[in-house]
Amino acid sequence: MKTQTELFRELPAIDELLREPEISQLSAEEGQSATADACRVVLARLRDEISAGHLDAERLRLALTGIHAAIRDELSRSLGYSLKAVINATGVVLHTNLGRAPLARSAIEHIRETADAYSNLEFDIESGDRGKRDVHVDRLFRKLLSREHAAAELTKRAGASVPSEFAEGGGTGVLARAAASVISTIVVNNNAAAVLLALNTLAEGGEVIVSRGELVEIGGSFRIPDVMTKSGATLREVGTTNRTRIADYERAINERTKLLLRVHRSNFEITGFTEQPDVRELGALAAKHKLPLMEDLGSGALFDLRTIGINNEPSVHDSLRVGVHVVTYSGDKLLGGPQAGLISGREDLVQKMRSNSLFRALRVDKLIYAALEATLLAYAKRDYEAVPALRMMQLSKAEITKRADIVTSRINSPKIRAELVDGESLIGGGSAPSAVLPTTLIALTSREMSANDLAARLRRSYPPIIARVEEGRVLLDLRTVFPAQDEVLRQVLAQVTA
Ligand SMILES: *Cc1c(COP(=O)(O)O)cnc(C)c1O
Repeated sequence: MKTQTELFRELPAIDELLREPEISQLSAEEGQSATADACRVVLARLRDEISAGHLDAERLRLALTGIHAAIRDELSRSLGYSLKAVINATGVVLHTNLGRAPLARSAIEHIRETADAYSNLEFDIESGDRGKRDVHVDRLFRKLLSREHAAAELTKRAGASVPSEFAEGGGTGVLARAAASVISTIVVNNNAAAVLLALNTLAEGGEVIVSRGELVEIGGSFRIPDVMTKSGATLREVGTTNRTRIADYERAINERTKLLLRVHRSNFEITGFTEQPDVRELGALAAKHKLPLMEDLGSGALFDLRTIGINNEPSVHDSLRVGVHVVTYSGDKLLGGPQAGLISGREDLVQKMRSNSLFRALRVDKLIYAALEATLLAYAKRDYEAVPALRMMQLSKAEITKRADIVTSRINSPKIRAELVDGESLIGGGSAPSAVLPTTLIALTSREMSANDLAARLRRSYPPIIARVEEGRVLLDLRTVFPAQDEVLRQVLAQVTA
């Protein structure tokens, strides 16, 4: 038996390694310092293994025969990107861990043309004066959130008639007022920042009334009570977890009240013995007491989800139309754009937020403006096919089945069974948890591997394939796989199951 000291002595020195032909070749290709670093990492790993008693003389000899390959692997890992594309076969369209909405092709092109050159980000080309960065998207939000645009959207819906509030010359009460006031929009880093800025601007030092049924936590560290504290406003809870009435809000209003807040439940539902006032009632109460009403919509769709069969998700239009003064929502959820927080609402209120010094700290850069402008332009042209998240949501089950058939056609292994089963895709991203779409899943079961092991093999393939594991099966949903990725997926499946 060799002692550890003897084993350590068998390890080559860095200089020796660098002089060996294979390594000096690597060094010429990738640079001497990166190559030397990779040698150091691999040697340190071997030293650790020896110290831990995992390597005897025989095993060390084996490890040393593979040292060139190990150095090459380490080098390509350290010089490669950590952030990389994956194939999302989970069927969750807005998957927060997988980067939420994939960007439209036009968004990428607009980023490219404005970011690899100078741009008029804050420059007025007409006058030669300093300009504002929000003008680039505010004009599009104005158009998309206008009464005319919303009305046209609604008439497009098969069989739908224009609600009376949109009828020509019509409009009473809240709606007439909403139509009369201009809707402005500002952009911050994400929706959490939007809520923070809005609360700080509208309610610092005062009270904000929220239902106990809406004190949500949205994954990670976004909790309504905590954001409220950070904003400098005091949370005034009303009602109970399952039932809150308009009278509960009214009773809580006092001279310190600054704002009524409604929060979209996003990731949970309350069913059974429940009650929640209609947003219209809250709007009327706010008007009566001359208080602003804010709604944290979370997902915030700019298109009518009823067109894809989802009826319980209010759009940004819906909220503004029924008397909400300020709506906050994400850019990378149902909108299908880049990460951003959007605040749309009455011009005077939004103007106050724009002048808040927090706004400067939460603002976004030119890449986001470029991606957002291009995404909004697709909406303005009603080219919903151009926005990948919208396109995926609109896919029919029949289209998905057809593709699943082709993708599984090469799997012919006695060890792995692939079958097509009915299932549901999830919209995700804080839209109602019940917002699901019918789909066809590819279900894989292996005789030799557990479902978790099979899913791990798919994750380690190139490109990594992310699937769901349920009841001992690996489930793949092509709704969230780009059709251009089908062939790669088919090849990887054929390989993994071979
Ligand atoms: C998702 C969500 C947030 C957080 O939005 P981010 O863009 O992730 O910061 C806040 N509120 C609600 C209701 C949400 O659904």
